[in-house]
Amino acid sequence: MTRRLQVMKFGGTSVGNAECIARAAKIVAQSAREGRCVAVVSAMSGVTNRLIEAARMAEAGNRSGALASIEEVRAQHESALNALLEDESERAGVRARLEAVLAEGSRFCEGTALLRELSLRTMDAISSLGERLSAPLVSAAVKELGLRSEALEATELIVTDEYHGGAEPQMEQTRARSQARILPLLNGGSIPVVTGFLGATPEGELTTLGRGGSDYSATILGAALDADEVIIWTDVEGVLTADPRLVTEAQTIPEISYREAAELAYFGAKVLHPKTLRPVVQAGIPVWIRNSFAPEKPGTKITPQGQSIGGGVKALTAIRDVTLISVGGPGIVGLPDVVGRTFSTTAEVRANVLLISQSSSQNDICFGVSSSDASKTVDALRKEFAQDLAHHKVEHIRVDPHIAIVAVVGQNMCGTPGIAGKTFNAMGKAGVNLIAIAQGSSETNISFVIEEQSVVPALRSLHREFALHKSAHRIPNAQGVLD
Ligand code: ASP
Ligand code: MG
Repeated sequence: MTRRLQVMKFGGTSVGNAECIARAAKIVAQSAREGRCVAVVSAMSGVTNRLIEAARMAEAGNRSGALASIEEVRAQHESALNALLEDESERAGVRARLEAVLAEGSRFCEGTALLRELSLRTMDAISSLGERLSAPLVSAAVKELGLRSEALEATELIVTDEYHGGAEPQMEQTRARSQARILPLLNGGSIPVVTGFLGATPEGELTTLGRGGSDYSATILGAALDADEVIIWTDVEGVLTADPRLVTEAQTIPEISYREAAELAYFGAKVLHPKTLRPVVQAGIPVWIRNSFAPEKPGTKITPQGQSIGGGVKALTAIRDVTLISVGGPGIVGLPDVVGRTFSTTAEVRANVLLISQSSSQNDICFGVSSSDASKTVDALRKEFAQDLAHHKVEHIRVDPHIAIVAVVGQNMCGTPGIAGKTFNAMGKAGVNLIAIAQGSSETNISFVIEEQSVVPALRSLHREFALHKSAHRIPNAQGVLD
């Protein structure tokens, strides 16, 4: 029988300095002692932002500013390297590899500054340098523990389309390449440390998977290698019942489903890149979210089914910076195309529509968009409905910028009566006014719009109403039901 395989990803803060890298290396070593382990790493924290800044400076013609940023990146890695490795000759080997990557970075910036032109392709090449620097450091730290390890660039493994800045993996080719390259290393007792965030087209052109994409890299490799589990090591204890900065009683959820995790990722709980679960859904590979700063804690396990919780509600999320736009007035009742025209307009301006609500009286359609999309959306709507506004067929296009969307999420809410009642009861108790409400027919979330200033009382009241502070302690019985 083959030994169990874990693919584990370390986020930017988990490899943020020498001490964190050493901690990550220990976690990898522990896993490799018990089975097979592939590590996937993000750039050290802050590095990707700095590289993007360097690229922008270069684009503006500021060559020296861009090169100074690359220097800062070098200094950050150099000091981590010196703190991590005792032996100067070993350091020299790693340093040479880092220098080669940094030299490439300087050349990209010089070229960009000269042309004052930054293509998405060049941006990918520059923004992904951080992962190409962190992987050799983490691999060296693993070796420092007496294990064998090799740093790999994912250009060799993850094959993507050509959509620079947000490329999608081509799984068949990725599978073939990853297995051919990684399995022999594992069989030979070596631990591969792979760059997150990046891949390459079939022709070998480097691409990135989008900001925060290292989570996605980990599940892509997990699926490609038929891993037993994927572990995302980060700086929080897992998926929480609510944002702990807003609700102090928030608890880590022991187990949630793919569906719930995806709902939460979409609704602004920033633990996971929204695409993370896609590659593992088919094979049903579990994904853990764990805290590399507290590895003794169990974290959250994301599984196909999740674990049913009596009340059905697993977590609460809130998105702020939302603007509510309503198009309506009694005159729209007889206008059959208002809904269609409204949303073709939002599509034209590429506004991300977060929630839609229309009552059956059809007097008014309202929807929420990110506030950053609001003004272009409203301008486009005013243009689209100019005639109808003039003839009072459409009475108003109203904009409310100070609102938030709160969502109550849980897969087993589906078919559980009383959840909406409890939700609105909690809002009543907190004296929070509901401006609009939406529940998709999948019944995995109820979302509603409230004034931004009511977010904290709303979340606290809901958290109490659904007794989410007890989430961590609830153990279901054999039927998966909680008492
Ligand atoms: N370093 C990349 C970013 O900051 C990818 C990642 O960290 O997941 O977006
Ligand atoms: Mg990151």
